Amino acid sequence: MGETDSFVAQGTAGDDFVYLAAFQQLVLERVHDLVTVMDPVGTIVYASPSWNTLLGLDPDAIVGTHFLDFVHPAEHETVAAALGEVRTGRSIEAVTTRLRTNDGRWISVENTGAPLHDAQGEVAYLLGTARDVTEREELSERVGEIDALYRVAETMARATSLGELFDEAIETLMQATGADRGAVLLYDDGGGDVMRFQAWRGLSEAYRMSTEGHSPWTPDTVEPEPVLVSDVAEAGFDGELEAAVRSEGIVALAFVPLVHGDRLLGKFMLYRDERHEWDARTIRLCRTIASHLASATLRTRGRTELQKSREQLETIMQTVDEGIVVQSSDGRLVYANEAAARVIGFESTAELLASNREETLARFDMLGEDGSPLLAEELPGRRALRGRPTERLVRYRVRATGDERWSIVRANPVRDAEGQIVMAVSVIHDVTAARAAEERVRFLAQGSELLNETLIYENTIGALADIAVPVFAGHVTVDLYEDGNLRCVGARHVDPRKTELMLRLREQYPPTVEAHPVQRAIRTGEPQFIPDVQAEARKMAHNDEHARAIRELGNTSGIVVPLIARGRTFGAITFGTVPPQPPFAESDFHLAVELGRRASVALDNALLYGEVEARAHAVEALEFVDDGVFLVDADGIVRLWNPAAAKAFRVKAVKALGRRVDEVIKDWERVSERVTSAPEPTAGAHPAETVPVDVQGEERWLSMSAVQFAGGTVYAFRDLTDERAVEQLKSDFVSTISHELRTPLAAIYGAALTLQRNDVRLEESQRSGLLDVISSEADRLARIVNDILWASRLDSGQMGIAIVSCNAIELVDKVIGALRAHSPVDVELAVDSPDELPPVAADPDKLRQVLTNLLDNAVKYSPDGGRVRIALRHSGNRIRFRIEDEGLGIPQAEQARIFEKFFRLDPNLTRGVGGTGLGLYICRELVYRMHGRIWVASDGRRGSTFTVELPVAS
Ligand code: ADP
Repeated sequence: MGETDSFVAQGTAGDDFVYLAAFQQLVLERVHDLVTVMDPVGTIVYASPSWNTLLGLDPDAIVGTHFLDFVHPAEHETVAAALGEVRTGRSIEAVTTRLRTNDGRWISVENTGAPLHDAQGEVAYLLGTARDVTEREELSERVGEIDALYRVAETMARATSLGELFDEAIETLMQATGADRGAVLLYDDGGGDVMRFQAWRGLSEAYRMSTEGHSPWTPDTVEPEPVLVSDVAEAGFDGELEAAVRSEGIVALAFVPLVHGDRLLGKFMLYRDERHEWDARTIRLCRTIASHLASATLRTRGRTELQKSREQLETIMQTVDEGIVVQSSDGRLVYANEAAARVIGFESTAELLASNREETLARFDMLGEDGSPLLAEELPGRRALRGRPTERLVRYRVRATGDERWSIVRANPVRDAEGQIVMAVSVIHDVTAARAAEERVRFLAQGSELLNETLIYENTIGALADIAVPVFAGHVTVDLYEDGNLRCVGARHVDPRKTELMLRLREQYPPTVEAHPVQRAIRTGEPQFIPDVQAEARKMAHNDEHARAIRELGNTSGIVVPLIARGRTFGAITFGTVPPQPPFAESDFHLAVELGRRASVALDNALLYGEVEARAHAVEALEFVDDGVFLVDADGIVRLWNPAAAKAFRVKAVKALGRRVDEVIKDWERVSERVTSAPEPTAGAHPAETVPVDVQGEERWLSMSAVQFAGGTVYAFRDLTDERAVEQLKSDFVSTISHELRTPLAAIYGAALTLQRNDVRLEESQRSGLLDVISSEADRLARIVNDILWASRLDSGQMGIAIVSCNAIELVDKVIGALRAHSPVDVELAVDSPDELPPVAADPDKLRQVLTNLLDNAVKYSPDGGRVRIALRHSGNRIRFRIEDEGLGIPQAEQARIFEKFFRLDPNLTRGVGGTGLGLYICRELVYRMHGRIWVASDGRRGSTFTVELPVAS
């Protein structure tokens, strides 16, 4: 300081000193600068009045204190060094320090220092002047702060990741605050209550590890305040934390909360390696930066997340099956994902975006759902650009290939803040496959419906042809097995002229060649796909000519589906394509197989129906046959029961059907055991077994045979009861008749022999007695022979009847007269005739025969004698002849049967009375032939009454 030098020099000059001293005093009192004179060790010996004005300290009171006592501890060293400089005789300039005011504030001063020499030239005093530079310092600090804030802000704007942001922020803050180290810690992203180091400067891993869990606040602390530690020794940290801090060489720490809104995000740490009083300004700056940092953290986090989600979105866009297209307001394509490119028929998004719009559109025919052309303006994207969100089905036909695709396109306009449409986003959902499947299902449904509409198999084949040609195939052929031979039963070609050709060709060259797809399909039961028919033409042909014909038909591809139903392959359907139809594709194959399956069922049904029809006719016929027929299924249930069966078993069909056969037929077990069932229907006669069956207590003889089939067993039988009875009767008759004949013959023979004897002399009476025997026994023989003759004549239809008007009374009298001649004495014959009786219409000979027979029986079956009476009555237009006896009687049950040929009551019942069993039979037949009736009444114990009723002659 030059002036001071000259002042001292002048001070030592002489008389002007007093004046000068007063002047100095005046100057010193008025200068704002602090002027201090110290001895060489720094003890104040003079302080100017400005100590009072600037620092509030009494200049006199501070004399004797050390200058350093007023200097900010942080600057002691600097100031001490400066004082040392001056002590060696050098001046110093512009050392900025802070001095403590009386009320404990700090003000910044810029010091200059100069030595004061004594007369010997030694440094006797140190002179210091200090100018208040607080404002300037503050200004520069402000600039520093602003600069720091600016840098942080800039960093925040620039930083693309949180890590980068924190690094910059720490750097900046350390510079702005003079901290030695720094760190940013945040709570874990997803919550949690541990703050973790995100960025740091000058901290060891060990330190970070051991202090990470420590925080002066909990996550829910409201308005957390910075925590400032000037010296870790005084902070009262727990031992472990303190040890960690100390071993890291840290003395002072500042914990500044990072708060955004009400949320504590983390903290900002500043460290100093020496004791440090953190001043309010530093903390303010920290807090300001911390608050910026907090929002930047959130923002950056948000941005990172946005970036991440944008990446995700893009990934999604590129992987979704839906095409996504963004058009700008002028209709230009600005974005498209891979799927969109694929749907529209481009290799890649890039290729699509690079393409010209008009060219792209020209690749397709755009069609509406109904197949009508769709104007480009009506496409959903264009409509969206006009402000109308649109969703519609769009069909694209690729002009180059004819391939048709279906898409549901949903387009929405996107507006800017002013509501202007800036773009349209279209989502294209390719529904071609779904549509094809739907079409196919519809096609099949229609097909099934058509196929099931008829049960006539010719019509089924017609329906199949209608379904398949031309919608699905160019031609269809059906081959079926008939009696083991494959025969073409129907064909249809799109070109009707070729239908004929196809049929002819099939007839001439049936698909019997082993390599023929029809054979392959039938052999394996697997559908066959022939992508190129012409390539295989030679292989499937019988000969060259056949191969030529196949070529002439010009089929391109073919599918053969075997017809399989109920486990058997019964034919095959062949579908073929002919140009310009495209050849069959894989999907067509599945469709054909499906159609074939349905056709199998329909054809099988039709064939079955045909059989059932035929069978139904057979069943109808069964209604009329005399043979009993019934069907018993595998479960023993009666499934068929014809009227003859109903009659034989006396069970109506309605009662028998659906019931167990053993409930319908008594003793079924025994019957079915005896009837051996043939395993299969045979053309010849099956072995029939005649078995007795109990029908409501009556034994009937059935000749039964059985045939098994898949559905059960058919039994057929003939009721042989009557025949059997006749047979029985016939054999009985033979034995009876021989007996009946032998008895009179023996009597005649005996009488004749006796008459012939010469050695015996017979009395006249004896002779006439023997002759009587001969005549009566001959008469008896004649009668037997007569009966047989009558019966045989009746049977052979040779009996002539001549009905005339007869006098019944006269006729009865004659018969009685003849009877009386040889009737036993113990039988009383009586006639009861009215005086007047209308004439009866009858053949008199036959009527006489009838009455004779009845009266003979009445006498014959009255072995104990009694009265036999014949009564004549007129009843309406009938004449009744009633023959009553008091004889053996006839049991009720046998009354119907006694009129049957050869029928005789049990010998026990007739007490051995002989007979042929023909008499009543002859009566019945004759009476019927004379248009009359005959019946019997008897209580079965005593007496019988036979009545014959004949018309009155007109
Ligand atoms: P037959 O030669 O055995 O008399 P018919 O046909 O005349 O043959 O009679 C059949 C059977 O009817 C006889 O065998 C007898 O058992 C029974 N019959 C017929 N008439 C009488 C009667 N009046 N009283 C009892 N039984 C009779």
